[in-house]
Amino acid sequence: MTKSEVLFKEAVDYIPGGVNSPVRAFGSIGGTPRFIERADGAYMYDIDGNKYIDYVCSWGPMILGHNKREILDSVIEACKNGLSFGAATEKEVEMAKLICEIVPSIEMVRMVNSGTEAVMSAVRAARGYTRRNKIIKFAGCYHGHSDAMLVKAGSGVMTSGIPDSQGVPEGCTKDTLTAIYNDISSVEKLFEEFGEEIAAVIVEPVGANMGVVPPRKGFLEGLRSICDKYESVLIFDEVITGFRLGLDGAQGYFGVQPDLTTFGKIIGAGMPVGAYGGKREIMEMISPKGPVYQAGTLSGNPVAMAAGYTQLTILKEHPEIYTELNERSEWFFKEIEAMIKDSGAKCRLNHIGSLGCIFFTEKEVTNYKEAKEADTQKYAEYFNYMLNAGIYLAPAQFEAMFISYAHSKQDLEKTLEILNDFMRK
Ligand SMILES: *Cc1c(COP(=O)(O)O)cnc(C)c1O
Repeated sequence: MTKSEVLFKEAVDYIPGGVNSPVRAFGSIGGTPRFIERADGAYMYDIDGNKYIDYVCSWGPMILGHNKREILDSVIEACKNGLSFGAATEKEVEMAKLICEIVPSIEMVRMVNSGTEAVMSAVRAARGYTRRNKIIKFAGCYHGHSDAMLVKAGSGVMTSGIPDSQGVPEGCTKDTLTAIYNDISSVEKLFEEFGEEIAAVIVEPVGANMGVVPPRKGFLEGLRSICDKYESVLIFDEVITGFRLGLDGAQGYFGVQPDLTTFGKIIGAGMPVGAYGGKREIMEMISPKGPVYQAGTLSGNPVAMAAGYTQLTILKEHPEIYTELNERSEWFFKEIEAMIKDSGAKCRLNHIGSLGCIFFTEKEVTNYKEAKEADTQKYAEYFNYMLNAGIYLAPAQFEAMFISYAHSKQDLEKTLEILNDFMRK
């Protein structure tokens, strides 16, 4: 047995499913998860000494690659002064100023510890601000694991959410309405029925948790105008897209301003960080300034702030990073598209910026229902083929492939060669 197999056998005795987050268990693609020992740049190394080109990048945070020197140094420096104080620090002010500076729609921001927490808190703020209860989310969008967000994705518009997990009382999801991604009429229908009861619409401005599903022209603009009409809060969940599509995220990329934005992943550079922010009049609802309660013992702690602040500063001071990363990614994805065409493989690619996803279906994928038609068995074959050849992809069909600035042209070329072998098979 490999060391990973031995360790996984032990892990399942002590940790539910052997992992601390479900997708890591390799459940949907079969096989044993590889236990990672270390990573550097675009590469990860497992405890059996295998090297991989990493296209998960910790699910996004490692946009500059693993072990970025400046980030590590800033974290080590911060550690020397103490890990956490539970009191205000200068770095938190600098971090808040930096975020407000680089994301124009954000006038105030609150730091939290995860994307889940950011969304849960933003929804609470929107409900407190509007004094309304209902929220609209989209089937196939993931917003973390707070109760109100764990709603079964229906095949059509749903006017009352059904819990998607045991342990979530129906009362927690009854105010969560579900609409269809890229289908503005499904949103209009819900507003026609519930209008003045709807506190917020929350959306991933690029769907990245049902594979990658970019918004159709007019979809985000449509959400903006319908929220304006009904005075509902528009929340962009930019936990993946934030600081990825560009410095100002999907909202900058598409030119649509939300009222509130949630961040995670890149904002912490690999440390557990989330944030939510937006319009001053909504954010001033948050305690201790306002009546909406939200708190966190470790929120804004100096070590996590050092990591995130350094990463965002590098991204801000080097706009060429996004230009080069997006150009290289565009080239890579175009090559894959050509390869699919030439080989006649029954799959298609969705991509935007440095995010991409191969779906094993021949039909266009623009929403969750269409994504679900993909052949997950084929994805498992693809995943395992690539893994055995040293390419570490997301271990599930409905996830994104993340490219970092550390991925060189040679890394991408090597990946294309292996992918080409697979496609021809
Ligand atoms: C990852 C993710 C979350 C949850 O973030 P965690 O840090 O895992 O809690 C929320 N929204 C989106 C869009 C995500 O991709």
